[in-house]
Amino acid sequence: MNLIFQKKSYSFKLSAKVKNSKANYHTKSGWIIKLISNDKKIGFGEVSPLFEEDLKKVAKQLNMIPEFLEVFNLSDQINTLHPCIQSAINSALAEINGEIIFKDKYFFDEIEKTAILLNPENVISDLNKIKKKQSNVGKSLTIKWKVGLKKNYEEEAILEEILSQIDNKIKLRIDANGSWGRKIANRWADILKDNKNIDWLEQPLDVDDLDGLKYLNKKIPIALDESLLKFPTLTDEWKGWQIRRPSQEINPVKLLRELENKKAFISISTSFETGIGRRWLYHLSSLQLQGPTPKVSGLAMNKFPNSFLFLNEAKKIWDQL
Ligand SMILES: [Mg+2]
Repeated sequence: MNLIFQKKSYSFKLSAKVKNSKANYHTKSGWIIKLISNDKKIGFGEVSPLFEEDLKKVAKQLNMIPEFLEVFNLSDQINTLHPCIQSAINSALAEINGEIIFKDKYFFDEIEKTAILLNPENVISDLNKIKKKQSNVGKSLTIKWKVGLKKNYEEEAILEEILSQIDNKIKLRIDANGSWGRKIANRWADILKDNKNIDWLEQPLDVDDLDGLKYLNKKIPIALDESLLKFPTLTDEWKGWQIRRPSQEINPVKLLRELENKKAFISISTSFETGIGRRWLYHLSSLQLQGPTPKVSGLAMNKFPNSFLFLNEAKKIWDQL
């Protein structure tokens, strides 16, 4: 098989800064790719590196991919490339091969359909604003709080306040982005282990501390995020929650199949993709909600600017870019 490979770069500013204990996100850059097959079928993919420090390396590798690709065994031909490039190519190919068929419309626009990221600078006032919206919506909501940004005693005081202010219609996810040591992580696990509001503690310990994470997972649900990026085989091994990012996995079709086969404890997360990558997020999130452990996805919906980059039609995004 021969493929035509084309790419275009993009950059946009998030409508609000996203801050965690390890990084700040304000602008996002990446590439849209287009593959055209012999029989003129088209697939789009998105190269969306989560970490800014990877951009240069990714740009260099993308520039080395020729426009006319002779394909023998594609997964072998691309297996030395950055996982985000492999993800984009495999996604586009899956679209060409009909392994994924996107719907015209997905329904994740309303506030209760995805997790809401609290502003870490203003947690309580943000929570109050969300509660007001909730009283209009009248439905259950999920909030996500990034910790490890302030001194621990300050964050424990905020936690106490959050817990005193949320009823059983609000679910809470706490994400330390790998910044806690075992002592603090165990303190939080002990405080929260019988709490009904908690969905999970996300990446409480360093990516490498798998023993510590396994131990914590016996006390309270632990979701791995950054550990899965560093050690992708953990997606087959970790028994607790998994934060899965299709644009960071070498072949998102694997994740698609897992969800189609009703694998439990998977949660879908954005890496701030445009409308091209978002098609996967929406599709996988819809499947997740039909699975054995439905939970809203983390799509950071309120962080994206109003732009053609977030249209529902891939072709329109490509043509306007
Ligand atoms: Mg996370």
